[in-house]
Amino acid sequence: MVGRVALGLFASLPLSLPCACSRDPSDAHEAVEAKAVAKQAPSPAAAALPELPTVDVAFLRRHIVALSDDAMQGRRPGTEGGAKAVAYIIEQLESLGVEPAGEGGGFTQAVPMRAVTLDSSRSSISLRPGPRAELQPLRLGEDVVASSLGPATTTQLEAPLVFVGYGVTAPEHDWDDFDGVDLRGKIAVVLVGDPPLPDDRFDGPAMTYYGRWSYKYERALEAGAVGCLVVHETAPASYDWNVVRSSWSGERYDLRSPAGEPPARLAIQGWIHAELAERLAALDGRELAGWHELALRPDFVPLSLSAELVVELVTTERSVTDVNVLGRIPGRTRPDEHVVLTAHWDHLGVDPRAVGGADAIFNGAVDNASGIAGMLGVAAILQSHVRDGRGPDRSVLLLATTAEEQGLLGSRAFVERGGDRVPLSSIVAASNLDSMNVHGRTTTIAVTGKGKSTLEDVLAEVAAAQGRTLVGDPTPEAGAYYRSDHFSFAKAGIPAIDFGGGPTMEEGGVAAGEALAHELAERYHTVADEYDPTWPLTGALQDVETMAELVLRVADAEQRPRWRLFLVIPLGGVAWRRRRARRQVSRDGAATWRVTGQAGESRDW
Ligand SMILES: [Zn+2]
Repeated sequence: MVGRVALGLFASLPLSLPCACSRDPSDAHEAVEAKAVAKQAPSPAAAALPELPTVDVAFLRRHIVALSDDAMQGRRPGTEGGAKAVAYIIEQLESLGVEPAGEGGGFTQAVPMRAVTLDSSRSSISLRPGPRAELQPLRLGEDVVASSLGPATTTQLEAPLVFVGYGVTAPEHDWDDFDGVDLRGKIAVVLVGDPPLPDDRFDGPAMTYYGRWSYKYERALEAGAVGCLVVHETAPASYDWNVVRSSWSGERYDLRSPAGEPPARLAIQGWIHAELAERLAALDGRELAGWHELALRPDFVPLSLSAELVVELVTTERSVTDVNVLGRIPGRTRPDEHVVLTAHWDHLGVDPRAVGGADAIFNGAVDNASGIAGMLGVAAILQSHVRDGRGPDRSVLLLATTAEEQGLLGSRAFVERGGDRVPLSSIVAASNLDSMNVHGRTTTIAVTGKGKSTLEDVLAEVAAAQGRTLVGDPTPEAGAYYRSDHFSFAKAGIPAIDFGGGPTMEEGGVAAGEALAHELAERYHTVADEYDPTWPLTGALQDVETMAELVLRVADAEQRPRWRLFLVIPLGGVAWRRRRARRQVSRDGAATWRVTGQAGESRDW
């Protein structure tokens, strides 16, 4: 069992390492030592453990092959293929002796959703370029992609368009694109991404949550708009129009409240192609480039366009209840506290547009059969620790989520409700496995959203013991930190980390890593994301061992992980919404933060 052997190596070394992460001098060292000695006596739980498999490349390959097989039909939520994937994961967790942590003593947690399909044959979106001007029909899928997640199945409206810049309200950056505009009954047109400012606001080149389309819709809804359309431009979006078009064709899922109510939503939300944005700008004698200039001006005010949209959207919907899969490895000394490891099991299913025998299955071998295989690997390694009397002090929750591809719906449902046996307040940290490195070993580990929490300190120690170093996200402009399940926990204020081996390969260095990343990007969300027997998977194994050690150390640490930065997540979890930071620049230029909470409550940072 490679993991074991490596950890064995660690076992001889960690006595010095663990104290590093807890940053306390010698007393922590003694405590850890005492605990390590105390841990040698296998617990009754250990005796009950089944025979554990060796976690090696063959282990990972077996699970990736199974989960990305055509038989899983691309693992779309609410489908037979999805149900097969869930059954497979439960079977594997049971075979590792992992406890069920779902509802009613089982492994699953229901995630009620609605699957909404736009009936494009009965829907139309037309542009009225000016008062009483002739309507210009727009091409669905070419000029615009849109749908309505509102409760009505027929949405009819005529609404003026307002250009609202980047559609961002960020008090901590003294930025409010919505200042001085009444958007009630109107459709906001916004640019994708963050304002690319020359100073360090909005994390410089890295995308913040403000740059994400989901934030734009949330903010426009909060501002009273009936709709919001994001202008698609490949560079700031970091994916091309095809990705937008394919993810907006077919059913779109949305959460239903446990009571079955659909949450408040815009009557129309979607994207417009850059060429249509050019047409809209030209109606007022401008260009899209001019909109960009305007949007960056400190005195920007939203621009009422002369055009309006005439919209008729017909949707059909069905209720879909799918499930998250929850397994638990009970802690030894602090079982009521939890470290969560997430990985989504779902993918895109079958391509309805494939014809003539063309490959139609989105197998999702990398995204995310590899992550589930990794989660099973981490579970097996941790269980081997339990068997050897060195199991985690805090409990570990393994959360295989549904509907991540539909907007992190599974992890959002978990965070909004918590688990029966795992209340949200008991969770000290979250980490995530999404699209693992299926290629060779690396000498670096890329951390998305680097610099956010003390979890990285622990990861840096684990990496150092492997001879690896941490680097930032190679493509920070893509905003990866906001695009997978760990973010649902971050939004609720729980320190969350997401990382993966690379981009520097042991063999071939950065150049090899970039070439592999490029190849991966070509397969992203296409039917070409299929299992490849030539994948060495040694890089994935390296990361599985890293994740197991990280989870173990966080579970054993005296201290809970903490956010390093005062993380402002707009419109985020309930906790965050009540807090607003306002930047005040005193006469000598020094910046201070004023945090305003409920009326009358305020503190300086
Ligand atoms: Zn994914």
